Amino acid sequence: MGQFMKAVQYQQVGAGPAVVEVPKPEPGPGQVLLRVTAAGMCHSDLEIMSWSGDQSPFEPPFTLGHEGIGTVAELGPGVRGVREGQSVAVYGPWGCGVCRNCAQGRENHCTRVEELDIRPPGLGRPGAMAEYLLVDDVRHLVPLDGLDPVQAAPLTDAGLTPHHAVKRSLPKLVGGSTAVVIGVGGLGHLAVQILRATTGARVIALDVADEKLELAQEVGAHEVVHSDGSAPARIRELTGGLGADVVLDFVGTAPTVQLAAQSVAIAGDITIVGIGGAPLPVGFGLLPYEVSVAAPYWGTRSELIEVLDLARSGALRAHVEAFSLDEAPEVYERLHAGKITGRAVVVP
Ligand code: NAD
Ligand code: ZN
Ligand code: ZN
Repeated sequence: MGQFMKAVQYQQVGAGPAVVEVPKPEPGPGQVLLRVTAAGMCHSDLEIMSWSGDQSPFEPPFTLGHEGIGTVAELGPGVRGVREGQSVAVYGPWGCGVCRNCAQGRENHCTRVEELDIRPPGLGRPGAMAEYLLVDDVRHLVPLDGLDPVQAAPLTDAGLTPHHAVKRSLPKLVGGSTAVVIGVGGLGHLAVQILRATTGARVIALDVADEKLELAQEVGAHEVVHSDGSAPARIRELTGGLGADVVLDFVGTAPTVQLAAQSVAIAGDITIVGIGGAPLPVGFGLLPYEVSVAAPYWGTRSELIEVLDLARSGALRAHVEAFSLDEAPEVYERLHAGKITGRAVVVP
């Protein structure tokens, strides 16, 4: 008889997350079984659980958690490259590993995920909010090399996604430039640190909650601004009327994409990371001249390695609150209510 383990599952459309017992997975050829040491909780999980059946590409039931850290518990036949007991981070946006984009490490841009029905762990297939996580291929693993698992968990998405988003705009983020960060939650508080560590930009951070603005200041924002109707004018004032060279929106709702449009400089970048889904009209005369707009997805394998390197150098430190698996459903409610500062991390 097989063994069982505890997992936090999204079980059916319309239901909240639940702690359940599921069979402990066994690694097949090429697979690696991790004993999970930390799993980050992302706002996207709430978004996904709010979608209706036909809206969602992810079919429940599945175990949540797409920010996973673990120690190698068991190697399937033929696996080389990691050893039992080693502490590793899981690169989440799995691709086919073979197409042109995957060959460049851009598995988040894999062209064959639909055709091959490949899902990231925690987003349609079993994720990291469990005692064990099965990983399909050793290439999805990055050694932690000394990083603390609870600290590292948010880096795999809340760190990687802003790092990828900032990288597209690096040529514009020279000394004297300004970057605006809208939403200082799990992703936003790491975005501020990534901007400080990798660019010369002055960072203006916005949120609706005072404690989030305090965190923004603690982690290196030069200015903090309350995110309301007067924010665009305040950003113009802080930039000598020019607006921000780069606006990163970690919310993506109607008020924040409008704020982004009203705050961006001529030839600036608007990057919508939040999956609020509000449209931003793009066309001549609708935005300042030559503004570029993108809605990026997660990051590349090599960018995850860069983010972990940045953390090891001391440039990045996730602000984390740790919880047990049993507490996860209640912590999701707190996240929904805006009561998590930084990132919630589940420790099985
Ligand atoms: P979070 O809940 O930790 O943080 C969101 C923050 O936005 C909170 O601090 C909240 O107070 C703030 N906020 C809400 N409304 C605001 C407003 N009008 N103006 C300014 N701030 C506001 O969420 P998170 O886990 O950091 O995720 C952020 C967003 O990014 C979510 O939409 C999530 O689904 C998305 N996401 C996207 C990707 C991607 O690849 N594109 C990856 C991960 C997460
Ligand atoms: Zn996420
Ligand atoms: Zn591919």
